[in-house]
Amino acid sequence: MHLARFPRLKFAHLPTPLEPLPRLSKELGGPEIWIKRDDCTGISSGGNKTRKLEFLMAEAEKIGADIVMTQGATQSNHARQTAAFAARLGMDCHILLEDRTGYTDHNYNQNGNVLLDHLHGATTQKYPGGHDMVGEMDKSADAARANGKVVYVIPGGGSNPTGALGYVNCAMELVGQANDLGLVIDHLVHATGSSGTQAGLIAGLKAINAAIPLLGFGTRAPQPKQEQMVYDLAVRTADLLGCPGIVAREDVRADTNYVGEGYGLPRADTLEAIRMFAELEGILLDPVYSGKGAAGLIDYCRTGKFKPGERVVFLHTGGSAGLFGYDSVLLDHSSSLAAE
Ligand SMILES: *Cc1c(COP(=O)(O)O)cnc(C)c1O
Repeated sequence: MHLARFPRLKFAHLPTPLEPLPRLSKELGGPEIWIKRDDCTGISSGGNKTRKLEFLMAEAEKIGADIVMTQGATQSNHARQTAAFAARLGMDCHILLEDRTGYTDHNYNQNGNVLLDHLHGATTQKYPGGHDMVGEMDKSADAARANGKVVYVIPGGGSNPTGALGYVNCAMELVGQANDLGLVIDHLVHATGSSGTQAGLIAGLKAINAAIPLLGFGTRAPQPKQEQMVYDLAVRTADLLGCPGIVAREDVRADTNYVGEGYGLPRADTLEAIRMFAELEGILLDPVYSGKGAAGLIDYCRTGKFKPGERVVFLHTGGSAGLFGYDSVLLDHSSSLAAE
């Protein structure tokens, strides 16, 4: 495996810090919790899509794209980071946004990531929940091509083998940092969605034979579907790396018990996780992904699934810009806590 063989734009601020969380660890009274700060990747308030876009947007540049197109939920962090890359490369960016929550308030629909999409100069088009977004993106791309444009299409979440290379890179970076610190990682956990993050991590960890147990906390799909998506993409990523056959089905583990009612809908334990990280460690999570991943982490510590003496790394995948689209939910919750 040799990542330097793949075209890449070095836009991210790497390596991201790997730091202990002493106050959260003490509060939970269990394992030693560490955080890998992929919320600090440096572009447009950061997040995990930046590592993927280093490889994806290098391809867009290579084909001479005039315009990049992608899709996601209204408060998509992926859309925002794609818009920022396009701005930096002088490309146009068009984003198809799907309403997956039914929230009608101003901030959800115009603030947070949506505001930043527009500040970066992207155009957006909204679609109702359940719409055929892939088909719609094909249509938009064909229309632009008919107008003589060179179009580069990025799947939702940047989750294809090229994008997942960003998390192969993260796996190597993290293991290198842990080696330097003398930190034996007993568990690595993070929020999983469109699956590129987990698939890239699995392919990378297997390629260097790190034997670090990895667990994704789901944010949308039920467990069998989530694990199958991650597995399929991890296999294809390993093939792209030139390491076929390294990923086994049992390497892929997702726990989807913290999703709640559905994608983009935070529940009480999501909001509690956001408050705990903010109040104990000064770290901002988000209501769609990292808050649900952290809710899983907190529950695993409280219920002894992660044990005292073990070392757990939480990969913080970012998303704090989304907080500004969720103020109504977050404020409801803090006033009810204040009243307790
Ligand atoms: C997209 C995203 C994830 C999930 O990553 P996938 O690669 O889509 O599984 C997690 N956290 C945040 C903040 C995200 O934006």
